[in-house]
Amino acid sequence: MKKNIYDVFEAHFPENTDATFIETDDGSQYSYAFLAEESARLARFLTDAGITKGDRVAVQVDKSAEVIFLYLACLRAGFVYLPLNTAYTESELSYFLENAQPSAVICRPPSEAFFHTRKNTQLIQVFTLACDGHSGSLVENSRSSEAEFETVASDADDLAVILYTSGTTGRPKGAMITHGNLAANGLALQAAWQWQQQDVLLHALPIFHIHGLFVACHNVLLGGSKMLFVNKFDTKTMLQLLPKSTVMMGVPTFYTRLLDDKDFNQDVCRNIRLFISGSAPLLEQTFNDFKTRSGHTILERYGMTETGMNTSNPVTGERLAGTVGLPLPGVSTRIVDENNQPLAGGVGALQVKGANVFKGYWNMPEKTAEEFTDDGYFMTGDLAELTPQGYIRIVGRNKDMIITGGYNVYPKEIELLLDEVKGIKESAVIGLPHKDFGEAVTAVVVVEPGQTIATDDAIIAELKQQLASYKAPKKIIVVPELERNAMGKVQKNRLREQYFKLYNS
Ligand code: AMP
Repeated sequence: MKKNIYDVFEAHFPENTDATFIETDDGSQYSYAFLAEESARLARFLTDAGITKGDRVAVQVDKSAEVIFLYLACLRAGFVYLPLNTAYTESELSYFLENAQPSAVICRPPSEAFFHTRKNTQLIQVFTLACDGHSGSLVENSRSSEAEFETVASDADDLAVILYTSGTTGRPKGAMITHGNLAANGLALQAAWQWQQQDVLLHALPIFHIHGLFVACHNVLLGGSKMLFVNKFDTKTMLQLLPKSTVMMGVPTFYTRLLDDKDFNQDVCRNIRLFISGSAPLLEQTFNDFKTRSGHTILERYGMTETGMNTSNPVTGERLAGTVGLPLPGVSTRIVDENNQPLAGGVGALQVKGANVFKGYWNMPEKTAEEFTDDGYFMTGDLAELTPQGYIRIVGRNKDMIITGGYNVYPKEIELLLDEVKGIKESAVIGLPHKDFGEAVTAVVVVEPGQTIATDDAIIAELKQQLASYKAPKKIIVVPELERNAMGKVQKNRLREQYFKLYNS
């Protein structure tokens, strides 16, 4: 690929560029023609402000259509787009600035003063963008710039985006994602999910993460289709917009929240052709309940910041609950033992290879080398196994695996059984330090509203009928809810910190 990813998008725009690209919840419509014009204007403005190809542009702003035009402008100009979670604090931001050394920052107006104090020889420009997407110095100052810009030629290997990974261990690492990575993965998904111009995507995800930015927006751009842009998930708004949509992408929490609303039914989903879930495991229970209520079989897919999407359940063909489907075209996957040898069966470490896999961690060559095998596979850190049909089932994160009395325990196996226990709504199984066992299997559970659960001993006895004793939890902790991050992932590291001394106080 000798092309800037923007050129690839442009080649897929609808013939009639007056067609809507984004419709926001205040009813504003932005056409493909406007996208081309506004991204050109912003690319021209930022280039004239002294930002050059390869420079990082850090962006910490609220979701609005303008952010997507800014993202596209950065791609067109060859800048490296660096989206930052709006929840990051000043101390976290200081780390990102230090590590990524951006040349420009686009931030919310209240953060402007902070970023100005961080200006240095590298960071030369700070602009603001308000949550409405219409005000702030970026929009105001760029208004007088010509909407003319020739998209910069980029190689497949040129950086397009740096995305910091959640960093549950150690400091966050900046994943370097290239124009070639984005094109390979975008085109593979567009074909796999049969994206078309008539499609209307209901987009309620954050746009500082691969799910909302790449998976969602790139499919729309490559389909030449439209998206309904909602700033954040709100069940009532979703219920209003679902009948106007053909595809919804969400984290599993979106699906459980829809199910919690009595007004969610088949009629609301009458125009939907695809419900897609990812970023965190979708419970089989949710998959089944959703099918019963809506008549739709959720399509679950699996990916990560470093790789984009790796596997997907099929659009035509069987979608299996609790699995993430088959490798996407162009992606090789394998499940290996601790010596990187492919396993004939059972649980092992999942590794992937393909044009979708990132270039490495920004300024961390050693860390990058550690995560790749000699034959070029990326170690995802996820544990997986194959179902009899050859579908991949994610069993958990490597670091979440519990070693108790020398035995390996995969939390997912116990969580699935706990979720079936009467009165338990959901669960997270963690390992906590224990002087005899090394780690003790511990369950943290949420009880269904208005229900009670049996005693710990009774639940543990029930589990032991189906599990080897060493896998059964030693204790069960009841919490009002499981803390999740913006992408719906249960924050197991927080639980481990909180209950660190449970057995060894
Ligand atoms: P992130 O880089 O923040 O997107 O996180 C990627 C991680 O999310 C993966 O390595 C998995 O552990 C998890 N993940 C993503 N999609 C799924 C899925 N469908 N099922 C289970 N885990 C998932």
